[in-house]
Amino acid sequence: MTVSDFSPSPYSPQPVSIIGAGLAGSLLAVLLAQRGDKVRLFERLPDMRRSTIPAGRSINLALAARGIRALELAGVMEQVLPLLIPMPGRMLHSPDGELTFVPYGQGEHEVIYSVSRPGLNRILLDAAEAARVEVEFGQTAVQADFRTGQITMLDDNEGSTWQLPMQRIIATDGAGSVLRRSMVTALTVDCTEDLLEHGYKELKLPPGRDGEHLIHKNALHIWPRGGFMLIALPNLDGSFTLTLFLARSGPESFESLTHASAIDTFFLRHFADVAALLPNLASEFLHNPTGVMGTVRCARWSLADRLLLLGDAAHAITPFHGQGMNCAFEDCRELFELLGARSDWPEVFATFDCTRRPNTDAIADMAIENYREMRDTVRDPKFQLQKALSLELERRFPNRFVPRYSMVMFHDEIPYSIAVERGRIQSEILATLTRDANAIGEVDFDAAAALIEQRLPPA
Ligand SMILES: Cc1cc2nc3c(=O)[nH]c(=O)nc-3n(C[C@H](O)[C@H](O)[C@H](O)COP(=O)(O)OP(=O)(O)OC[C@H]3O[C@@H](n4cnc5c(N)ncnc54)[C@H](O)[C@@H]3O)c2cc1C
Repeated sequence: MTVSDFSPSPYSPQPVSIIGAGLAGSLLAVLLAQRGDKVRLFERLPDMRRSTIPAGRSINLALAARGIRALELAGVMEQVLPLLIPMPGRMLHSPDGELTFVPYGQGEHEVIYSVSRPGLNRILLDAAEAARVEVEFGQTAVQADFRTGQITMLDDNEGSTWQLPMQRIIATDGAGSVLRRSMVTALTVDCTEDLLEHGYKELKLPPGRDGEHLIHKNALHIWPRGGFMLIALPNLDGSFTLTLFLARSGPESFESLTHASAIDTFFLRHFADVAALLPNLASEFLHNPTGVMGTVRCARWSLADRLLLLGDAAHAITPFHGQGMNCAFEDCRELFELLGARSDWPEVFATFDCTRRPNTDAIADMAIENYREMRDTVRDPKFQLQKALSLELERRFPNRFVPRYSMVMFHDEIPYSIAVERGRIQSEILATLTRDANAIGEVDFDAAAALIEQRLPPA
């Protein structure tokens, strides 16, 4: 069976069905319902607003410009604002406890925000229901049959299965997407799921006695240690969510941290300042799951107007640029804008499939590069000089030289693929300008002006 065996489904008043009410599925449901589509949203888990279920991976996330723009489009930013904690920069923790604050950008608006995943998801689910989306929980997509054009759904509430016709289905069922895997197998689509050798574990840094944050509240904290790192994002209740990124196996790895004394020793050796603030470190460490991360690249996301993959289901990326959700939200906005007032779904699905991929490939690459930067290069004085110089060049040559990090996080009008291309040219310029310089004062700014004029067209 091949993709060309599929024609658009016959016209019917079928609603759009979205599978997976996580971040992308819920936001997309709001946007489509506001456009006037009849939308059904199916989620395998119980309703997170009414039952206590684990928040899943990453309790909080960094929200940046691309995500904010999509949330604004859906009209939910007013509800989201009270959840946000501004993080204007990175706070680097050296092994001896020395702190260095490195701003992310320079404008007042060049800030990223820590936001609670379940908090944000709840707002989106409320907005979906307010827009008359039919949301059904406890409904798991089990598999898709491309011969019969049906998706088998398991109803956890009834303990029975039922068939959902494969018409205008949008799969937002996350990185392990059942619908992607069904399509890849049935239609022999090229797809890679590359797992990183490093895993992650989340821990809680509790608030102080009066509910205060025990480390600087307004920063994304990083303990870069070369082969691994610890990060922390603030929560509204005064706590932080810490995430340890570490090899899954090997001498210093999750595999080797299986008893309390090894865990305590590891933290005291590498993260002594924060270890002192973690009363239940070893028991929490042993209790919390170790997560895996990876990059999914799938050569096809759409099948006529029958199926479209979106968000992590289409292109999961590693979390090191803090862009997975932001990118998934940008997917939702782009699909919504492609649809406009139209209803030629096959055309729109196909256009999304080919125009969006260069950008999702680009952010996947940048996310992996950023891992090395966060855990290692960030400590290098040359790197710090180049970071400072790139902000200085942006001040002197605005709209011409924009640091790559800023293009990704603050400039939602610049596609990821352009950020990669301009970023490559800019890093060559920075390398040339800092070859013989050890401080900003030693940089030849006439040479900088000439290089920028010659190599970087206005952004
Ligand atoms: C440790 C970590 C930190 C991260 N930090 C950031 C960050 O700071 N900033 C950022 O932008 N991104 C971050 N991300 C990435 C972000 O979490 C994802 O990109 C984002 O959640 C993608 O949204 P999604 O809706 O596509 O998928 P998901 O959020 O995974 O949602 C999928 C939904 O589908 C449901 N589902 C799954 N299978 C089925 C099925 N068979 N049937 C029905 N429903 C199903 C799930 O229960 C879930 O509700 C991070 C990721 C990790 C792992």
